Amino acid sequence: MTTEQNTLNGPVAKDWIMAIAPYVPGKAKSDDGRVLIKLSANENPLGTSPAVREAAMAALADLATYPDPGATQLREAIAAQHGLDPARVIYGTGSDELLHLAASAYAGPGDEVIYVRYGFSVYDIAARRVGATPVVVDDKDYGTDVDAILAAVTEKTRVVFLANPNNPTGTFTPRAEIARLLDGLRPDILFVLDQAYAEYLSAEEDDHGLELARTRANVFITRTFSKIYGLAAERIGWGYASEAVIDALHRIRAPFNLTTSAQAAGIAALADQKFVDDSREHNRIWRAWLAAEMEALGNHGVRVVPSGANFLLILFEGKVGAETVYKALMEAGYATRWLPGQGLPHGLRITIGTEAHVKDIAARVRTLVSGVSGA
Ligand SMILES: *Cc1c(COP(=O)(O)O)cnc(C)c1O
Repeated sequence: MTTEQNTLNGPVAKDWIMAIAPYVPGKAKSDDGRVLIKLSANENPLGTSPAVREAAMAALADLATYPDPGATQLREAIAAQHGLDPARVIYGTGSDELLHLAASAYAGPGDEVIYVRYGFSVYDIAARRVGATPVVVDDKDYGTDVDAILAAVTEKTRVVFLANPNNPTGTFTPRAEIARLLDGLRPDILFVLDQAYAEYLSAEEDDHGLELARTRANVFITRTFSKIYGLAAERIGWGYASEAVIDALHRIRAPFNLTTSAQAAGIAALADQKFVDDSREHNRIWRAWLAAEMEALGNHGVRVVPSGANFLLILFEGKVGAETVYKALMEAGYATRWLPGQGLPHGLRITIGTEAHVKDIAARVRTLVSGVSGA
């Protein structure tokens, strides 16, 4: 076997593919190889419902047979839970797959895809992968600026991606603003409303995304079992849109894109809404607690971006910067998300962990930035 490879005459990847900055997953290990407490990927600190684990394990009994290609029972369970038409529920290997499907079906070379500056990094990859031109819109103090999005629309715009709540900022765009954005978009532009964190919102905060996807021909909402349902390892996403949009997406979806255990886990997860309620409540309490602790450090340049999700974006604009805090927390055994690559060198995104982890982190940050022991 030769180790020499002639790259000179080798295949040439499309230039729009080589323009993609690879996705950077949340860290689970320190630079020197220690396993860290992972508060870098917005996973559920309560883990997974035991009933769901059992269902997934039972599904592993049959490994030789392909999974149900139509994910029939899971679609029916999702539809029943949310009052939807099961025929219009699509499913993906994580909602990430669905975001790619949306860009692939509706945008190509010469077309424009819009998303916000501090948006989910998969939108950029999804747009570039199909040769479309990404159009990045400025924020308004880290939040979504609907007027700026509408002003960025051109005759070439085909898709608008927006996460609500947004990641990595956590900011929430209220129902009236979502409606105003949609009303300002031409009907031939696909509006992808990424609701990965929707289950963390209270009933009053609901942005009406499902209702919009039910009634408007150009709205595609995406959801995931990776966050509040505690099933990130199983890669289960789903989406809802008009029949025409769902028909287009199915044509390019990978066949058998949801494993048998994923389908079983999803069905069991929907049946355990107590776990979901407990997770939402845990998050509500400890997010508010951590936000208050951090805001109390305001005179040291610490600022918290208001969050509707299961994490906080904390800004360090004083003497002690985000990089210093990031490294100190890593030294103490925590993986958080420092975001210089996303234009936020002063920001640290921290997933709301267990009570003990949240309290320990707050004490450590206080000591670091104020020089006073938090104990
Ligand atoms: C976590 C996340 C997703 C999706 O995750 P999957 O695990 O692929 O379902 C999608 N959008 C946003 C904004 C996220 O933060």
